[in-house]
Amino acid sequence: MSVMPILLYPDPVLRVRCPEVTVFDDGLRKLAADMVETMHAAVGVGLAASQVGVETRLAVIDVSVGEEEDDALVLVNPVIDDPKGDERDVEGCLSIPEFTEKVDRPTEIRVRAQDLEGAPFELVAEGLLARVICHEVDHLDGVLFVDHLRGLRREKAKRHLRRMREEAIA
Ligand SMILES: [Zn+2]
Repeated sequence: MSVMPILLYPDPVLRVRCPEVTVFDDGLRKLAADMVETMHAAVGVGLAASQVGVETRLAVIDVSVGEEEDDALVLVNPVIDDPKGDERDVEGCLSIPEFTEKVDRPTEIRVRAQDLEGAPFELVAEGLLARVICHEVDHLDGVLFVDHLRGLRREKAKRHLRRMREEAIA
């Protein structure tokens, strides 16, 4: 396994709507394992393939932040159904360091996905897990958490993103 570099805003790959995984092979399993290691090394709770430069619908999630090593949830081609409730809580993103803001997310979702062998499964997620899954599925559609912000919170985000664009050019 190896730790991969995480792409930072404004990398254009972060804006790609990723195509579905169609081949469930050792390459996919190696990518998932590397992503789990990368997420744990970065002390993140979730990571989407596009964040490591791979345009495919794969995300890894571990709301224990790596404390339980085998606990990572791997979602291939995830689809969110049946969102319920609404809760505003703090989010951040490994691709937008040093910025957090409160985002509205459903409190409960149903997720349909495949595992690394291609077998379909479903799960119901609540609270933080639901929030992280929504954040990662957004990534697979090229959407960043800051896109959900409105008003004053959006202005704060815009200032931070402008600084990141300037640093990327410098
Ligand atoms: Zn993110």
